[in-house]
Amino acid sequence: MTMLLRNARLATMSPNRAGLGVIEDGAILIEDGRIACVGDERSVPVADGIVVVDCGGRWITPGLIDCHTHLVHAGNRAREFEMRLAGATYEEIARAGGGIVSSVRQVREASEADLVAESLPRLDALLAEGVTTVEIKSGYGLTVEDEGKMLRAARSLANERKINVTTTYLGAHATPADYKGRNGDFIREVVLPGLDAAHAQGLVDAVDGFCEGIAFAPDEMRTVFEAARAHGLPVKLHADQLSNLQGAALAADYGALSADHLEYTDSEGAAAMTRAGTVAVLLPGAYYFIRETKKPPIDLFRRHATKMALATDCNPGTSPLTSLLLTMNMGATLFHLTVEECLAGVTREAARALGRLDSIGTIEVGKQADLAIWNIENPAELVYRIGFNPLYRRIWRGELASTSMSGVSS
Ligand SMILES: [Zn+2]
Repeated sequence: MTMLLRNARLATMSPNRAGLGVIEDGAILIEDGRIACVGDERSVPVADGIVVVDCGGRWITPGLIDCHTHLVHAGNRAREFEMRLAGATYEEIARAGGGIVSSVRQVREASEADLVAESLPRLDALLAEGVTTVEIKSGYGLTVEDEGKMLRAARSLANERKINVTTTYLGAHATPADYKGRNGDFIREVVLPGLDAAHAQGLVDAVDGFCEGIAFAPDEMRTVFEAARAHGLPVKLHADQLSNLQGAALAADYGALSADHLEYTDSEGAAAMTRAGTVAVLLPGAYYFIRETKKPPIDLFRRHATKMALATDCNPGTSPLTSLLLTMNMGATLFHLTVEECLAGVTREAARALGRLDSIGTIEVGKQADLAIWNIENPAELVYRIGFNPLYRRIWRGELASTSMSGVSS
């Protein structure tokens, strides 16, 4: 199957071109789901018998990539949100069964099919805005069995929709009640065996953890990362979100694909990340939702030329967000990112944060033909508008995949 997209304006995001890598009067030739040729319309060959799509001068970007989500979960925490707004303390919420323990309980009670069914509407919301790749973490099962169940549910979503799904093992997300105060035992008895089991089933693309005073200490994370390394799996880390435990530097030590959150990261951490090629994944939805006031050190990352990505962090507790368009707006408004940084953050740099830049994230020859076509006059509109979705068509592996929220394909 060969298709030519013509009469388009392209924001290729190619690192070999300046800015957004714009090609006016652009065309893309797609063969067997891959980009065979891209450039000025006059330079792209037209053969007989190919499908030609006139894009009417619309803009085309790479399909968007959400590189940090906890999209597979059960239930929600709206009641807890309501209590908090009414003035309840964390202790009162915990006594009422709220907090992460409620998400863990609901995931354990859910079947794999329940998890898929509950997660699909959230996935559809992302797809409706041109997302073609989503990363999904485990981390609410916290038993060997339930972590595997979450990862299988995440992988199943790729059978339900036209989407690339990458899965990340996050056994070291929180310590369940029965291991309270015994992190070492939990890692030895659950996190590491859970990783072995999930990896043996081919369910793990990367290994993640939550390094924080309220979660796991740096040395505990090292134990998990050593196990990942022994399996040849890349790592990521929830780092420096609420305090500076030198999580960014720890992640860089292990050549992490990404370190994520990073509100408290310092200059040493940023420098170490740049040296290791570790991407800074910024999560403005969580910053917004928990009313954090300390911003991630964007200027430090710029000064050290640390690559920056943006993601929803879609999760029931601290970022119930399923919009990458809104995430970009928050990145600009709350973190002062530029339009170029926002767009790169949900395309090229998000691909880099998943270790997939060789196959997705830019419009370049040889890459998967994952694209989004937009009803816009200027790419800045994708960052500027709030609550408005200008997606015209989503293309996944060269197939026209969806037109609107209601038309999301299966
Ligand atoms: Zn997260």
